[in-house]
Amino acid sequence: MIFPEKSHILSSITALIFPPLCLTCGELLSEEMKTQPFCSLCRSQINFITNPVCTLCGLPFPGAEDEIRFCGECIVDPPPFSRARAMGVFKGPLLEAIHLFKFQGNMPAGERLGKMMALWVNDCLTLPNYDAILPVPLHASKLRQRGFNQSLVLARQIAKVSSINVNALTLKKVVQGAPQVGLGREERRENVRGTFAVKDSEDLGGMKILLVDDVYTTGSTVRECAVALMKEGASEVDVLTLARA
Ligand SMILES: [Zn+2]
Ligand SMILES: [Zn+2]
Repeated sequence: MIFPEKSHILSSITALIFPPLCLTCGELLSEEMKTQPFCSLCRSQINFITNPVCTLCGLPFPGAEDEIRFCGECIVDPPPFSRARAMGVFKGPLLEAIHLFKFQGNMPAGERLGKMMALWVNDCLTLPNYDAILPVPLHASKLRQRGFNQSLVLARQIAKVSSINVNALTLKKVVQGAPQVGLGREERRENVRGTFAVKDSEDLGGMKILLVDDVYTTGSTVRECAVALMKEGASEVDVLTLARA
C-alpha cells in the first residue's frame, strides 16, 4: 500500500473545509480551474489586453500587431521604463478581485491573481531576460496600516515560475505623499516626485529589472520608481501590472 504524502493529505483536508470558489461570484471551481481566481463565466468577462498596444506604455492602440508604435503621451513625454504591460482592463471581475485582495486583505485571492498573471506574462514579456523582480514598495506607515504589500504578493508568484529572485528591499518609498485617488495626471506626477529611492550601497549596475505593481493608472508611480532605479545604474526597467485603468 502506498501512503499519500502528509502535505497532500493536508491540502485535501483544506480543500474540503475551504473549497476553491470563484473570487467574484462564489461558484465552486472545477478540478482544472481550482488554482484559478475565476470561474469560466467570470473569466470570460475580463478584458484581457492583447496586441496591438503602445510599444512603451502598453496602452491598447490600433495598428498592425508587430509594428512599433507610440501613443500620444509617450511621444510627448517618453517614460523612463522600456515597456509596461498589464494583464487586463481594471473593471468587472478583475477590479472586484483586486479590491478583495488589496482592501479586504484576502491573501489567497492575491496569490491566485498573481498565479494567473504569471501564466499570462509570457505572452508579452520574456522572463529569463530579467536579473531581478522588484515590487513597487509601500511607505513604512502604509505597510503597517495595510499589513502587507500587495505588489510583493504578486511579485512572488512571478518569481515562482521564473526562478528569478524577488528583491523587496532595494527600492524604498521614502516619502508618503497625499493619496493619488482623485488627482489628475499632472498632480499625480507632482505628488510622487522624489518619493522613491534605492537603498544605499545597492549596486544596480547594468541590471534588467522587472517592476511589479497591482494597477497601472496614469503610470506616475512606476515612472518615478524607474527614474530612481535608472539613476542607480539599472540598464532597463520593465513594468508588469495585473490591471490597467
Ligand atoms: Zn465566477
Ligand atoms: Zn504609450
